[in-house]
Amino acid sequence: MKITDITFGMLRVPLKTPFKTALRTVDRVEDIVIMVHTDSGNIGYGEAPATAVITGDTHGSIVDAIRHYISPRLIGEDVANLNRLTQLIQGAMEKNTSAKAAVEIAIYDLFGQLYNAPLYKLLGGGDPVITTDITISVDYIDKMVADSMAAVERGFESLKIKVGKDIGVDIERVKAIYAAVEDRALLRLDANQGWTAKQAVYALQTLEDAGVRLELVEQPVKAHDLEGMRYVTERVHTPIMADESVFGPMEVVELIRMRAADIINIKLMKTGGISNAIRIADIAAMHGIECMIGCMLETSISVAAAVHVAVAKADVITKIDLDGPSLCLFNPVEGGVIFNESEITITDAPGLGIREIRGLEPLEA
Ligand code: MG
Repeated sequence: MKITDITFGMLRVPLKTPFKTALRTVDRVEDIVIMVHTDSGNIGYGEAPATAVITGDTHGSIVDAIRHYISPRLIGEDVANLNRLTQLIQGAMEKNTSAKAAVEIAIYDLFGQLYNAPLYKLLGGGDPVITTDITISVDYIDKMVADSMAAVERGFESLKIKVGKDIGVDIERVKAIYAAVEDRALLRLDANQGWTAKQAVYALQTLEDAGVRLELVEQPVKAHDLEGMRYVTERVHTPIMADESVFGPMEVVELIRMRAADIINIKLMKTGGISNAIRIADIAAMHGIECMIGCMLETSISVAAAVHVAVAKADVITKIDLDGPSLCLFNPVEGGVIFNESEITITDAPGLGIREIRGLEPLEA
């Protein structure tokens, strides 16, 4: 199975409700979809969103990176040589992790098709059912309480509460949601870099003293402030998770060396795809550190890839934040991973099992 061409499409899907964090507000998914064509007629699918405020990747940069730097290295290569292909992708250029992720996802999809097995089985197997949390966007307190209650009614047992705006209001937000939800769901906070280290310690100690128990708090401080992250981690009981602070395996090694956080959030768009996500999971497992697997605003193409990784590495990836598909108004993808609110199931279809993508707009070659 030799790679013959890579083509592009744009996939637009409205969100059920606007996605609001300390960094941005978004009301629809708008992702680049790539199709890796082969001489056997098999097509591998990949996807990447533009997340300029986190990865620096834009739609233009993703397409350009793939078209001019990654694709020329892959044309004519054999899908069977997976490790060689991931090295070609990762070595094509610096950074551009979302572009690399989209291509790796498509290559792993083809690798599964080549051996006629769902990807998670080729990554080591596992129980093909996982449970995800759902994001509650940052908003007025009453709205966040109502959204949280609605999510609990939909069967979600973990809520990821976006905070990081105004520290006083953030504390009230969390107290109100905690009181309303009672013990029907675990609460995870994501401050998206919105606090200083001292503010984070103050907020978390205040919440701890008020009896609010949180499963974890994600990225309280700025991405580059590892010292600040360590300052918070040392001073609160609540587990601290690094998200924007860690992209690839090298940063994970540094974070662990510094003991700057308790948990690591793996996202394919930060790692540059599946090969480095697996490396991070293995490094974390060696050090007895748990991981979450998360996603950007992605649909069930790239999120499906994350699901396969999560299942195969379930011993260390113990927390799932793959709510992209459930935030979308509809699922444009007919595929091998079934997203049913909090429950995600993988079928026996080879690779990612993607059969159809509805509404995909072709992009000029
Ligand atoms: Mg986050």
